[in-house]
Amino acid sequence: MSVAFVTHSDCLKHDMGTHHPERPARLTAIEDQLIASGIGQYLTRFDAPLATDEQLARVHPIEYVRAIREAAPKQGTVHLDPDTAMNPFTLQAALRAAGAAVLATDLVLKDKVTTAFCSVRPPGHHACRARSMGFCIFNNVAVAVRHAIHEHGLERVAVVDFDVHHGNGTEDIFEGDEHVLMASIFQHPFYPYSGADDPARNMVNVPLPAGAGSREFRAAVTQAWIPALEEFEPELVVFSAGFDAHVEDDMAMLRFTDADYGWVTEKIKAIAERHAKGRIVSALEGGYALSALGRSAVQHLRVLGGLNA
Ligand SMILES: [Zn+2]
Repeated sequence: MSVAFVTHSDCLKHDMGTHHPERPARLTAIEDQLIASGIGQYLTRFDAPLATDEQLARVHPIEYVRAIREAAPKQGTVHLDPDTAMNPFTLQAALRAAGAAVLATDLVLKDKVTTAFCSVRPPGHHACRARSMGFCIFNNVAVAVRHAIHEHGLERVAVVDFDVHHGNGTEDIFEGDEHVLMASIFQHPFYPYSGADDPARNMVNVPLPAGAGSREFRAAVTQAWIPALEEFEPELVVFSAGFDAHVEDDMAMLRFTDADYGWVTEKIKAIAERHAKGRIVSALEGGYALSALGRSAVQHLRVLGGLNA
């Protein structure tokens, strides 16, 4: 079975300004590399639907969802926080990004595909229960997890986050939630300065110092993530797939390579195959060096789809 690729043209219209690193060209960079690598033809493409208030309210208070709807400008730009802004198209993009995660979950849990990747923006893992943060408005991955639990009756869902930044929003949402195990590797100390001290029991957080690369990353996955995931026995694995720990990415100072993203996907896929019938949903988070982002996403997709072409 092929891998689903869920995206929407609305996600290209969300624009926070020419100098903002979280820019529309990120998604086109992924599309470019799908063509260059030749794997694009093996993906089954889906248009992302709009997330509903019911789906969002499993993660965010409905008052927050309404406040975001009301903040959306008719023209110009409105800042939600110092890093996150809305233009007239942002609300649609954010609803599509969360909706993509819901559709991906449905496709995987209804056995239409085994794995699905959401090529969407805005990203989600810094979005807390009731607060936008760090380019994120709705927590797309969290919406997928709660959808899997509430709509499909799953008991155990694992979130695996290899973005260079700690997924503080996802932790805020799932802290102490017995249905969810979150495994995260991130640069520390670094934005958002969370995750290293006293994480919740259902969080497997591995902070890495600036300058850490493939060796440290692979050791952390092997020694910390894998045993915890094996013990948890997830019925679904959801990736927060940020590619900003790449050595070419100036946003941070970790030194991962294209191959590391293929490697970690293989390791996690093996867990999913043992416990979750291979079911994986993945959603794009960060990744700001365009070529590295596109190439790394291809490595991730290649493994998700079993495409060794
Ligand atoms: Zn990031």
